[in-house]
Amino acid sequence: MIYNAPTKDMLFLLTEWLGIERLSALPGYEEVDTDIIEAVLEEAGKFCTTELLTINRDGDEHGAVHEDGKVRTPPGFKQAYQQFIENGWTTIDANPDHGGQGLPKVLQNQIDEMLGATNLSFKLYAELSHAAYHLLDSTASDDIRDLYLPKMVEGTWSGTMCLTEPHCGTDLGLLNTKAVPNDDGSYAITGSKIFITSGDHDLTENILHLVIARIDGAPEGSRGISLFLVPKYIVNDDGSVGDWNKVVTSSIEHKMGIKGSATCALNFDGARGLLIGEENRGLAAMFKMMNTERLTVGIQGLGFADIAYQNALAYAHDRLQSKAPGERPAGGKAADPIIYQPEMQRQLLTIRSQVEGARALAAFAGLHVDIMERSADPEAAADAGQTVALLTPVVKAFLSDLGLASTVSAQGIYGGHGYVREHGMEQLVRDCRITQIYEGTNEVQALDLVARKLTGKTGEFADRFLAQWQEVLGGHSANEELAFVTGPATAALERLVETTAWLRGQLETDRAIAHGAAYQYLHQFALTIIACLWADIVAGIADKQGAFYDAKRKVARFYMQQVLPETTALAAKIRDGADALAEFGVADFGD
Ligand SMILES: Cc1cc2nc3c(=O)[nH]c(=O)nc-3n(C[C@H](O)[C@H](O)[C@H](O)COP(=O)(O)OP(=O)(O)OC[C@H]3O[C@@H](n4cnc5c(N)ncnc54)[C@H](O)[C@@H]3O)c2cc1C
Repeated sequence: MIYNAPTKDMLFLLTEWLGIERLSALPGYEEVDTDIIEAVLEEAGKFCTTELLTINRDGDEHGAVHEDGKVRTPPGFKQAYQQFIENGWTTIDANPDHGGQGLPKVLQNQIDEMLGATNLSFKLYAELSHAAYHLLDSTASDDIRDLYLPKMVEGTWSGTMCLTEPHCGTDLGLLNTKAVPNDDGSYAITGSKIFITSGDHDLTENILHLVIARIDGAPEGSRGISLFLVPKYIVNDDGSVGDWNKVVTSSIEHKMGIKGSATCALNFDGARGLLIGEENRGLAAMFKMMNTERLTVGIQGLGFADIAYQNALAYAHDRLQSKAPGERPAGGKAADPIIYQPEMQRQLLTIRSQVEGARALAAFAGLHVDIMERSADPEAAADAGQTVALLTPVVKAFLSDLGLASTVSAQGIYGGHGYVREHGMEQLVRDCRITQIYEGTNEVQALDLVARKLTGKTGEFADRFLAQWQEVLGGHSANEELAFVTGPATAALERLVETTAWLRGQLETDRAIAHGAAYQYLHQFALTIIACLWADIVAGIADKQGAFYDAKRKVARFYMQQVLPETTALAAKIRDGADALAEFGVADFGD
């Protein structure tokens, strides 16, 4: 398996298209420039290709193992993790107060794409830790932050997110885990959590579990959930690791993919937990963590789509099969490389045009996370926060769907050789599948977009967001050289505005119809916004020549002609197909 880190494209998006000055204008990022971004991306690309891609297959074959009550990571993971923390990859966007480098989130997102592409199982050990760190940094008391966070940034302690229980995944309001106050102000946590990523492993000396539980006497449902920090080993006041804290790993899951990642069932048996944030406000705090995680999970899907594309392209150059109908290579052999087959080109370009567009969407969302967190202008920060809220479910669901669709399509380019293990394509398909499920299934992301983000104040913002893009595209309408991108993008945006208004009407009159259309709407939304971004990119490079920019224009044209038309079908299915879905009741399915 090969991987060429897409450093050039990432650098272009961040420094040329979005503009490095937008980052360096933010307080704390004054020193960030193109050279720093380029150096970090290049090092990350090297690390991922040489250290992580090389152990990805072993991770799949050996998997994480649960033996004698302990979890062992696959061969090579320990050495790679040591290298990972020594190189400072746990410190990128962490707070300098805890030993972090304080670099932009959007840069972290781009590194995340490389990590996810080359070895998602490995990445997950650090990923939940990264999310737990940021949750504690924004919510915990100073004492807790001082005692625990430097170790997390150093990478010698890791973190988890313990939400799911056997009977509750999506609907966390049903949870049973209990928290009983101890005399010393801590709580005794008792309950069973399942599917906990990196819940136990041998990479770090301590594991900090962020656990949601209900304090005795708290209200039922999601309004009675609190958040606790429950270390695997008690942390003494001087920061040393003390006694075991009654957290038992009862088993690990045997899964379809990401076998190198330990997915654990944990029993908390009166474990000592510290309340984080206010009582009964745990779910809101946890959602903060889940929201950044959701962007990251979407970006995992993007990484899969890209590595699948790169390998399928290399294979298509090598594989000789059939004579091509049009352009043929010089030298005239009995069969041509399959890259000369227009259908192979169509499939490859379908992936590439969406990968490059989706990478732009991820960078756009990532930049807005930085503005939201750093801008000195409260209005700009609030506006960016709304953009992030609107785009989070879109990035999570659309990019992870793109990941699976692309890995399957790239696997097909190998014919039968993609179905067998040899080339690693079937592992990509299996590993990628989870991205659609965890951190809230994609169905639930679609509901979030439609039922929450299109209504109330966020709904007003969604309208403003679409109107802003209408204005941007309108600003280019007189430029005929851009019509090949602005024309289709403008038409698609008009369609999206109409579908949005119709869907909002359904939310008021018949919510079931709106919910039934949510998934399709999320795809219409994503494909359309990506078209707007493509148009903006092409407008921004209008006076630039050279192979990189010429390819961007050609790929953008392909997107407009071969991918974007899907939005017409989606709009029709959403509006004209609503009745057919509504009239088929549960009883019609039979038993
Ligand atoms: C490998 C792996 C790693 C994981 N890591 C973690 C972790 O670290 N921490 C953690 O807490 N959890 C973790 N999870 C749990 C994961 O987040 C849940 O599996 C996921 O949120 C779905 O919950 P569920 O499995 O209970 O499915 P359910 O909630 O039972 O859903 C079943 C189906 O119903 C659909 N559905 C449910 N409600 C609605 C609705 N309102 N509208 C439309 N459709 C709906 C869902 O989309 C899904 O298709 C992990 C899971 C796996 C498999």
